[in-house]
Amino acid sequence: MDIFEYSRLSKKEIAKRIDKAKRNIGAVIIAHSYQRIEVQQIADIVGDSLELAREVVNTDAPIIVFCGVMFMAETAQIINPDKMVLIPEIQAGCPLAAHATAEDVIRMKGKYPGYKVVTYINSTAEVKSVSDIVCTSANSVKIVESFPKEQGIIFVPDKNLCAYTKRITGRENIVCWDGHCYVHDRITAQDILNARKMHPNTVIIAHPEVKIEVQELSDLIGSTSAMYRYVRDHPKQTVVLVTEYGLIQRINVEFPGTSVYPIYEHAICSNMKLITLEKVLRTLDEQIYEINIPDAIANRARVTIDRMLAIK
Ligand code: SF4
Repeated sequence: MDIFEYSRLSKKEIAKRIDKAKRNIGAVIIAHSYQRIEVQQIADIVGDSLELAREVVNTDAPIIVFCGVMFMAETAQIINPDKMVLIPEIQAGCPLAAHATAEDVIRMKGKYPGYKVVTYINSTAEVKSVSDIVCTSANSVKIVESFPKEQGIIFVPDKNLCAYTKRITGRENIVCWDGHCYVHDRITAQDILNARKMHPNTVIIAHPEVKIEVQELSDLIGSTSAMYRYVRDHPKQTVVLVTEYGLIQRINVEFPGTSVYPIYEHAICSNMKLITLEKVLRTLDEQIYEINIPDAIANRARVTIDRMLAIK
């Protein structure tokens, strides 16, 4: 069925058909917190990169429909080699991941012999396959601290998460890659000052992908899962979340009555929003687009993800 045909259906009807189709084929639907709210609402599991990586390992379903960007679906495929992993939109790439190629990383390793490569999960399968270990925004400090202090590290590909990790670990022998997420990196110090004026007595929590000067003006730094837990555990506190708008929408639905605001409503990842309910239904009906990663790359990348998952 053409995607425009699906668009003729009401949202309610699409949600009903998604539920039926996923049961018919034994699929589990996984969604990142930056997905459109209606996509998050039909998902079986919603979370951030680390939560989803762990949940995906535990699923029994033979088919995984991953509502996120390409590197996330690739990660699900790498750690579930016997399952079919589908992404509803083949164009849903991550511009941050596109900042590094495997060739670039190999060249950098040549420049810094003996250094270990710690790669943010927001990276391609090829880049993971030439790295030593993967990390997420929730565990980058723990992963870096799993190496001895004197070990030099190349941190790929987000410069702001790298700067945060350097600051918290106090390690200077970390070389930061020059990549960034366009959604987080364009948030400015002035935006934080404006938010403080607009919401007095608020707690401002910033994602570590924002610029270091934005991090310094914020009250707390945390991954999306840490932000979610903070709101859940402090329901009376006014909070401004400095991250993608989808997380704020999720929180407002799950915790009605809390006072949670975005840094601004146009902090939107258009790559994440490429996935729609219509495309999820088409994926279930036609089983497109299947993720296929060459074995040699998947096997090497799996080792780097397993190393991360083994660090609790
Ligand atoms: S929010 Fe940033 S890091 Fe996440 S998918 Fe979009 S561009 Fe990539």
